[in-house]
Amino acid sequence: MKCALIRPDGAVVHAERHPTGADRGAEAVVDTILTVADGLIDTARTAGLTPTALGIVVPGIVDQTRGVAVWSANIGFRDVPLRDLAADRLGLPTALGHDVRAGGLAEARLGAGRDCGHVLFVAIGTGIAAAHVVAAAAATGAHGAAGELGHILVRPGGPRCGCGRSGCLEAIASASAVARRYTALATGTTGNADTTPDGGSAGPTVVTAAEVAGRAAAGEELATRVWREAVEALADGLATAQALYDVQTIVLGGGLAQAGPELFDPLRTALRERLTFHREPRLVPAALGDEAGCLGAALLALDQLEDS
Ligand SMILES: [Zn+2]
Repeated sequence: MKCALIRPDGAVVHAERHPTGADRGAEAVVDTILTVADGLIDTARTAGLTPTALGIVVPGIVDQTRGVAVWSANIGFRDVPLRDLAADRLGLPTALGHDVRAGGLAEARLGAGRDCGHVLFVAIGTGIAAAHVVAAAAATGAHGAAGELGHILVRPGGPRCGCGRSGCLEAIASASAVARRYTALATGTTGNADTTPDGGSAGPTVVTAAEVAGRAAAGEELATRVWREAVEALADGLATAQALYDVQTIVLGGGLAQAGPELFDPLRTALRERLTFHREPRLVPAALGDEAGCLGAALLALDQLEDS
């Protein structure tokens, strides 16, 4: 869990990290969230600051309007009214949101998508998820499940995805998938996902996606093939996204985006090849790093204060 005290202007005053301990079950995780938030409030007051609102963001399916963590494979949330639990215990106006949508909100308002009206933030790590931000708000979807870009079908009959279907984008192009496919091809195993749909733990992998990118850049044949397949699948997914959303800027974050030009150069070319009449979006790396989620949580909390 990444936690921070953040001023209304986005300045991080204080940051902490705590183990989630998801194996203890959802109830224990909720208790830890509330205890940590309580501690942050104390820390703020000791420093002479006045906490005005609390923002919490979690993975999975999140009903932001009702403030409910509907479902999460990793943590085991099942209809947890986290917003009200926090507001009752801590006595602060509280907003609950989704981790990737919050990261996207922060990148669109404070980071790499700043000054663009229409932004798609794509986080590529264990899984692939996206946030479509228009007019400084991330669309949640009718059921709190918008932005599941990783489950766009790009290779029917392809590698099995954690969601149970074969050929989803994230089964080919997530950082975990790249590492897994390279390792599988190198060792002759299946290469199917053993992750959960919202990005659960991957099995043992020998080589990371960054190493695959490095080996591809050095001209290794197998790495080049796996990397090219991932880039092409990503370009297919992003072309679909651009057809749907027509954004100015696509911000790529997460582990895979750290590959830098080895990802962005071929991906720009592959995306351009796939667009016909659609305008080509700017393709840029995320700027806020792993603080994006915390900043997004703070923005959600501030937005809710302004709305109330
Ligand atoms: Zn899937």
